Amino acid sequence: MNNPAPIAASLAALRARIAAAAPGRAVTLIAVSKTQPSAAIIEALAAGQLVFGENRVQEAATKFPDLRITHPDIDLHCIGALQSNKARDAVLLFDQIESLDRPKLADALAEAADREGTLPYLLVQVNIGDEPQKAGIARADADNFITAMRARFGEKLHGLMAIPPVGHDPKPYFRDLVAMADHHGLPIRSIGMSDDFEVAIECGATQVRIGSALFGARAPIINSP
Ligand SMILES: *Cc1c(COP(=O)(O)O)cnc(C)c1O
Repeated sequence: MNNPAPIAASLAALRARIAAAAPGRAVTLIAVSKTQPSAAIIEALAAGQLVFGENRVQEAATKFPDLRITHPDIDLHCIGALQSNKARDAVLLFDQIESLDRPKLADALAEAADREGTLPYLLVQVNIGDEPQKAGIARADADNFITAMRARFGEKLHGLMAIPPVGHDPKPYFRDLVAMADHHGLPIRSIGMSDDFEVAIECGATQVRIGSALFGARAPIINSP
């Protein structure tokens, strides 16, 4: 046997861990490829990975249109804060936007979708720890916002996403997010990252967002605007 490429080997290991954490149930692995070069994404594609997550529109736009030429089945998720003025680019680039968190962004996405004739699947991002610096709709406003987004986008509103506070046991936050999704009858729950995806799956995650455990540690971002 040849040594598998490192990314193929980590993918195989992650898939096995996900399957073990979710017996009898499918959980989507989102390969978070932010800061990774296209070569790393191509390695993952070669190992059968089609679902990717990027947190910046500009970076995704430089990498993915080319990759889609050879891999039209790529399923690309926006997992980072999205500015309203990037709504048009986002609607054209992404298959799922996980960071819908305010009415102004909803307006911009609806307008872009009308103009371009295409609307990605949407997740409402909930600021599940009510952290002042973090993106996501505040918990107190979440029910009304989710109801309004369901009315506006119908079946395109697919679920909820959250990032629990760093340094806390994520379990209660994961459980709360899943309870909110249940309450609204939303099928997709995007919770869990490299360090806690198995816990998230036990709590009911349907998709996990994994970067460093797949691609290795990211270089620090020196000049983040
Ligand atoms: C970077 C990022 C991830 C992946 O984080 P890892 O700890 O590297 O797995 C997941 N979700 C979001 C929103 C991110 O920005």
